[in-house]
Amino acid sequence: MTSATKYCPECGRELPAEARFCTGCGTGFTTVAETPEPIVAPASEQQAAQNTSPEVTALSIELQRLSDLLESGSITQETYESSKAQALATFANARQQANASAAVQQAAAAPDTGGFGWAALGFFFPMVGLILYLVWKDDRPITAKAAGKGALIGVIVSVVLSVLLGILSAVLPLIIMNSYY
Ligand SMILES: [Zn+2]
Repeated sequence: MTSATKYCPECGRELPAEARFCTGCGTGFTTVAETPEPIVAPASEQQAAQNTSPEVTALSIELQRLSDLLESGSITQETYESSKAQALATFANARQQANASAAVQQAAAAPDTGGFGWAALGFFFPMVGLILYLVWKDDRPITAKAAGKGALIGVIVSVVLSVLLGILSAVLPLIIMNSYY
């Protein structure tokens, strides 16, 4: 135990334990906060604000509307329950879609760092490297170039190798035959 202080749950300001309200943001206290959470409180607050997505807002509005209808007697308990279940299902669906599109956005926002991996992929699969280059050349130019360069090197190497093999297959028999005479 450090001293007789507490932290404002709203803004994190350190206050005397007996304070009735926060001198920083004016929040009134009904209970004395024993556990100090100075930095965590604002951060989790921020997160809560981020978590309030349009789907959550839509769901809470719909649930409020349904309970209002039930209270006013406009719908039966049964209708209320089924509508609520439907709203929750719609919410789950929307949430899933939002998560999926967030994942796609995150993938699209992946850092454009190029990298040996993409070059190697282009090297071994020049067609894939070429396609990646064409797809990414505007959005991720560095990575696109890495894949494209890998593809180019891959093509050059395979051409050179096939030429060498061609020469070898023409020359080798001559060498072998010459060694017989
Ligand atoms: Zn405060």
